[in-house]
Amino acid sequence: MTSETRTNANADLVEKKNLHENTSYWAKTPRISVRHFERLPSQTCDILIVGSGISGALMAEHLCNGGRDVMMVDRRRPVRGSSLDSTAMIQHEIDVPLHVLKRKIGEEKAIRAWQRSRDAVRSLVDLAGKLDLDCSMEPKRTLYLAGDELGPRALRAEARLREVAGIDARLLDRAATGTEFGIDRAASIVSQDSASANPAQLTAGLIRTAQGRGLKVVSPIEITDVLPAGGHVACSTADGQLIIARHVVFCSGYEFLRRLESPKHSIISTWAIAVKPRSAVPSWLPGFLVWEASDPYLYLRMSGDGSIIAGGEDEDSAEAFDDPARLKANTDRIVSKVEALLGVSLYPPHSRWAAPFGNTTTGLPFIGPVPGLQNVYAVMGFGGNGITFSKIAAEVIKAAISGKKDRDADLFSFPA
Ligand SMILES: Cc1cc2nc3c(=O)[nH]c(=O)nc-3n(C[C@H](O)[C@H](O)[C@H](O)COP(=O)(O)OP(=O)(O)OC[C@H]3O[C@@H](n4cnc5c(N)ncnc54)[C@H](O)[C@@H]3O)c2cc1C
Repeated sequence: MTSETRTNANADLVEKKNLHENTSYWAKTPRISVRHFERLPSQTCDILIVGSGISGALMAEHLCNGGRDVMMVDRRRPVRGSSLDSTAMIQHEIDVPLHVLKRKIGEEKAIRAWQRSRDAVRSLVDLAGKLDLDCSMEPKRTLYLAGDELGPRALRAEARLREVAGIDARLLDRAATGTEFGIDRAASIVSQDSASANPAQLTAGLIRTAQGRGLKVVSPIEITDVLPAGGHVACSTADGQLIIARHVVFCSGYEFLRRLESPKHSIISTWAIAVKPRSAVPSWLPGFLVWEASDPYLYLRMSGDGSIIAGGEDEDSAEAFDDPARLKANTDRIVSKVEALLGVSLYPPHSRWAAPFGNTTTGLPFIGPVPGLQNVYAVMGFGGNGITFSKIAAEVIKAAISGKKDRDADLFSFPA
């Protein structure tokens, strides 16, 4: 073992975080628990998945198809990481608009990334249907509103490039936005190919499906070190055990491998609410996700129980989400913005929560082999498309483990 191939055993393998100081809305919903072993049923497997959030769940569903021996471990109870906090707007619209991404990585790559994101949403919706997952998965459209960050001119450029890319986008001016949606904004884009779901039920449902095909889930088990071991990977655990796997996939969310720290991504804080309207909501709202291109941005959607789920107010601090005063102030601000945007009156939120959140400079995730660690892969599906990116990650890593190359793997590889 060389110093390059060994992780630093003196530091934590991942940076541990308090992922949700406050109880998220989905924590109170049914069908989110998963049967699991409390001790390792065996110390070897073909594939070890570290993490039982949406990334680990989709990874398991994709990998448990070919007679492989797959084990999933988590240091928390299953489905208790960031996926429990997600507002689950399953958008293909990447946080960085297509015409902005084009400037960052070139037109060909930007278009491929957006097309892949669109395809991932479609295939995730299909998968949930095919598996008959009871998770409120609903195809939706997106209403993308001009704001102080992207005005009408930028939306025009965006709609034009999406048309070139074959990605559905209908540009509306102020008058049409007002007529169709009753919203006073300078412009908007209406698009197909989005969805929403209960993220915890989606995650748990996928894990249960994979369990039906042989997946073993073990919790609590914390992986503390990763070492090459003669073509295999040896993972040590916090309780002094060793798991030997042929391949290891870190789906550890915002508690990512320290060796993957980079100026190209950062952890920030975000806030969200679930709230019941006092007055009738616009009739179009249940079928849409709404995103306002402002800084800070605002987003919202409806859930099946008639609540409005909304979020935003991001702050560039990895700790701000822990502050109770900010929880009240930032979520009150989200309430006021939703009321003003939709012209509805809201009750006080029945759930307010805050959490760490990830950003990358391109809005794209990092997915692929971990540099310097053979047969170890990681998924960092950052940003407001974390769920969509988890689907892409499952496809990219399944191909890599099967000895194939995904056509878009280059878009998501870790910075050298
Ligand atoms: C408030 C909020 C709103 C969001 N809204 C959206 C949205 O609308 N749409 C969208 O697509 N995305 C959204 N996201 C992002 C999305 O939810 C995340 O990208 C996604 O849930 C991350 O899933 P994951 O499986 O990677 O991580 P997690 O769900 O956090 O799972 C990782 C698991 O790994 C475990 N783990 C970590 N380290 C170890 C270790 N060393 N050993 C064992 N286990 C370990 C953790 O305990 C954890 O359970 C939102 C996120 C937040 C916080």
